[in-house]
Amino acid sequence: MVKVSVLSQNPAAVNSGIVVGDERVLIIDSGPGPSAAAHLLDRAKTLSVEVGGGPVPIEVAITHDHWDHFFGNGTLAAAGVDVFHASSSFAADQEATSWIALDGVRTAPETSGFAEELPEDPSALVVEVSPVDASPGDVGEIDLGGCRVEFHVLGGHSTADLVVRLPELGVVFTGDLVEEGAPPQAGSDASLSEWVSSLRTILSFPEARIFVPGHGVPVDHEFVECQLADIDGLRMDQSDAEVALPSRAMPGDHDRSLPRELRLV
Ligand SMILES: [Zn+2]
Repeated sequence: MVKVSVLSQNPAAVNSGIVVGDERVLIIDSGPGPSAAAHLLDRAKTLSVEVGGGPVPIEVAITHDHWDHFFGNGTLAAAGVDVFHASSSFAADQEATSWIALDGVRTAPETSGFAEELPEDPSALVVEVSPVDASPGDVGEIDLGGCRVEFHVLGGHSTADLVVRLPELGVVFTGDLVEEGAPPQAGSDASLSEWVSSLRTILSFPEARIFVPGHGVPVDHEFVECQLADIDGLRMDQSDAEVALPSRAMPGDHDRSLPRELRLV
């Protein structure tokens, strides 16, 4: 039996995934900090007991190097998790990224209160990473036991976004290459042309029917097509300062309370 859940937690209303197979559990994005990571760990253990009758080893995949997606890493490592899948770019940059991002979270008014739960020393956020890509275009693969997982390094939102594809289940965790309920964030590390080609690749996965964004509720193929058109439009119109990425919402009624947990499979 396989279980897939999406957990959304503050600060930043960030999505993390828990994929439970017969032999292993994969947590996708460790969340913004220690308490979010502890909750993920707790739910991962509970769900794995429900599936297999006993706790199984837990591994982690990190979609990209923005703080809200990986500041829980140190907490998971301290709890005994020792396999972190990420891009080679994440592995190379995480020390500098942790230092800069921790400083940013401490000084930003909206996160300075939350920063009290983060470690003083940014090196406490750094973990040993198993890079999924040795050369461009490499696809990593693991089997959780009855559930195959593919890792695709497809940049655009950041220098190296990692997409997690569950080919047998039609589910794709996109990281912030897709955002629902808020505009996609194109910061200084974004590349709009790479972003467009990454979304085209994701849309070419023939089985994919549920796309889990980095923030917001899961979306469908049509939603990702619209976001691709938005980003492509911005790419072609960068000279126009008035152009911004729109916020799109998935039609229908959705639970948007925080924290929340949505069972996909
Ligand atoms: Zn994010």
